[in-house]
Amino acid sequence: MSDLSRLILDRIRDVPDYPQPGVMFKDITPLLADPGAFAAVTDELAGLHEVDKIVGIEARGFILGAPAAYKARAGFVPVRKKGKLPAETFEASYDLEYGSAVVEVHRDAFAPDDRVLIVDDVLATGGTARATVELVRRTGAEVVAVAVLMELAFLKGRERLDGVKVHPLVVV
Ligand code: AMP
Repeated sequence: MSDLSRLILDRIRDVPDYPQPGVMFKDITPLLADPGAFAAVTDELAGLHEVDKIVGIEARGFILGAPAAYKARAGFVPVRKKGKLPAETFEASYDLEYGSAVVEVHRDAFAPDDRVLIVDDVLATGGTARATVELVRRTGAEVVAVAVLMELAFLKGRERLDGVKVHPLVVV
């Protein structure tokens, strides 16, 4: 295991039965609060691929994706829960490990030939990432990869992403 993976594992807190019984919540706030760990994660995400835009998935994908976009000199595009974006959107619905939701992106967020990296904190069942891939593709842009801090491999989220490249910084 790499030093970075070890650092990430060490800084992510397991919170049992949150937000409901049976879910082991991966809390990234200790990692965000550690300047060295936050910088190392940002640098890693920014260096994964040459892209035009980084998409952050609401809400923790914003915290990770925006500084990575700044560092990579890429644009940042938010994918948000339904009803939060003011202009015309595409929307996609998905199931979560707990509950279900709809995400949206602005229709004009990308140029047609944009290369895009999608960033989030945790890949669980893959529903959120899959819906986000679908949104980006509907705009005509190209999804280069999905990057997450942590992949929960036992939930097999990767299998729902139809061959899209996945870069987990840690797999558990
Ligand atoms: P999924 O769509 O099942 O892959 O779930 C991924 C989304 O839900 C991400 O945006 C995560 O922030 C959140 N999520 C799902 N499961 C967890 C978990 N066990 N710990 C922390 N966040 C989670």
